[in-house]
Amino acid sequence: MIRRRSRARSTGPDVDTRELVRWRDRDRCRMCGVHTWQIHHRKPRGMGGTRDPLINDPSNLVLLCGSGTTGCHGWVEMHRTAAREQGWLVSQHADPRYQPIDHEGQLLFLTSDGKTSPETTTTRKGA
Ligand SMILES: [Zn+2]
Repeated sequence: MIRRRSRARSTGPDVDTRELVRWRDRDRCRMCGVHTWQIHHRKPRGMGGTRDPLINDPSNLVLLCGSGTTGCHGWVEMHRTAAREQGWLVSQHADPRYQPIDHEGQLLFLTSDGKTSPETTTTRKGA
């Protein structure tokens, strides 16, 4: 019996996690606020997938517009040191749950249950 296996093994977050992250970030880029559904891994996925359970944890995922070369995602790739300082990138050995992102000047922790801490209910409105 011949079994054909797709080589396109997905290492991304599952549907529920994607929905959760999009809901948390309100379908907006966390850096600039434009509408996006692009999910960025703060701690990069390792080569050939990873067994690190935090890779696809909501704390490690954030919506960023653009691709690897454009938009805010592109900025992160081109300014890795600054991006790390602002929490958009998390080093392989760090825990994304304890690495806040710098969201509009406010440090924000992303939690495993798809929330942010401190809560953003008091976030200033307007551009
Ligand atoms: Zn953006």
